[in-house]
Amino acid sequence: MDKIAICINLICPIIMTRFMKLVKDIDKNSLKKQVTDKQAEDAFKTILSWIGEDPSREGLIETPKRVVKAFKEYFKGYSLDASQELKKTFGEVEGYDDMVVEKNISFESHCEHHIAPIIGVVHIAYLPKEKVVGLSKLARTVEVFSKRLQTQERLTTQIANTLMNALDARGVAVTIDAAHQCMTMRGVKKEKTTTITNYFLGTFKDDLSYQNRYLRYITK
Ligand SMILES: [Zn+2]
Repeated sequence: MDKIAICINLICPIIMTRFMKLVKDIDKNSLKKQVTDKQAEDAFKTILSWIGEDPSREGLIETPKRVVKAFKEYFKGYSLDASQELKKTFGEVEGYDDMVVEKNISFESHCEHHIAPIIGVVHIAYLPKEKVVGLSKLARTVEVFSKRLQTQERLTTQIANTLMNALDARGVAVTIDAAHQCMTMRGVKKEKTTTITNYFLGTFKDDLSYQNRYLRYITK
């Protein structure tokens, strides 16, 4: 009996964990499929009525459909995988080991608190160990994470951590300078305000001379 009890105690949690993971995965997938384009269009139609419009008037009749199409573009990042984008790297760089800086990568995102646009630029630097990545892939990484509901802080760290891991870099620096329309168009209405966030990893965090060189490049 004792043996059976030990067995159950050991195996049950494993089975339960697997079962819960399965339920979670099913939940995630069904959640995605649960809402159809038509349902999303109807939701936008409701919002049009709610703001005091007549969704059946000529100018608005196709609007819910167009908004759903636009939202698919704004939030396409949910179906993209940054690590896939960064898979292809190059080793033949004749020993290049200094920083690679790509600056002024423009981006558009949406804040998760108001679904208002965040518009600005991202600067990225990394210190390669053995491999470099195609330059467009840095901008692609920005795209993957910006086309989601975001906070600027999280966007900054997600880009940095992803590059650090995928490139096995010696260091990564990411700076974002952006205007949040939830601040410029509503609320406190400070239309000239931009927000700057920085995130440094590896050598950029530990060695201020690297950090300073990077900051000089991006402010030039
Ligand atoms: Zn906001």
